[in-house]
Order: sequence, then C-alpha cells, then structure tokens
Amino acid sequence: MSDCIFCKIARGELGALIYEDEKVAAFRDVKPMAKVHILIVPKEHIPCIDECEDGALLGHMLLTARKLAKREGISESGYRLMINCREDGGQTVMHLHLHLIGGEKICWGPI
Ligand code: 5GP
Ligand code: ZN
Repeated sequence: MSDCIFCKIARGELGALIYEDEKVAAFRDVKPMAKVHILIVPKEHIPCIDECEDGALLGHMLLTARKLAKREGISESGYRLMINCREDGGQTVMHLHLHLIGGEKICWGPI
C-alpha cells in the first residue's frame, strides 16, 4: 500500500531495518516503551490481526520475535510480545505489527 508508513519502512524506503527475510521486516519503534522495542511486520500490507488468516505468517512473526530477542540479548531476562487490534486495542498504525519489548522490567496491565 503506497501511503502506509509501515509498508514504506518494510520496503526499506524509510528508516533502518534491523532484520528482513522474504516474509517479514523488523525495525526499532520510533517511541520506545522500554530499552528494547522492536516492531515485526509482514511485508504484505495486512491492516490488523483480525484480517489475517495466514497462520504460517503469524507463526513466522512470533519465531522472528524470538530470534530477535536472542540477538538483542534479552531472551534470558525476558520480554513481552504484543499485538494491538483496532481502536479499543490501541492500534494506531493500521498495518499488522508485533511489538517485542524488553531490556527492563515491564509492568503488566492495560496501557
Ligand atoms: P500500535 O499502537 O499501532 O500497536 O503501535 C504503533 C507503534 O508504531 C507505536 O509504538 C509507535 O511509536 C510506532 N510508530 C509509529 N510511527 C512510526 C514510524 O514512523 N517509525 C517507527 N519506527 N515507529 C513508528
Ligand atoms: Zn502497510
């Protein structure tokens, strides 16, 4: 999608990617909630998880997050994976993304 910011980032047209493969791209959140805050996105434009039927892609996003957590050195200390969906879920960018957050203790609860 030409006017989608995460499509542009995933294509490498805006900002720096820290990971990419044939299905997904990953980059650091512009407004990090913790020392490590990475977003993993599908290269294909999918607005939100409620519109994604591709279980293999979703699994790949999760495994990519796990791989990046290891690379960032936060596997042992722990991390949180989060997907917000639509308005009540707090989704602000309508391109499916998985948050990988860690590097410090994260409070639990609605944010
Ligand atoms: P959401 O609230 O939709 O789950 O998360 C969107 C995230 O994208 C937010 O954490 C926000 O800081 C991040 N974000 C929004 N615009 C940009 C951008 O242009 N570049 C990067 N790297 N992150 C962005
Ligand atoms: Zn997009």
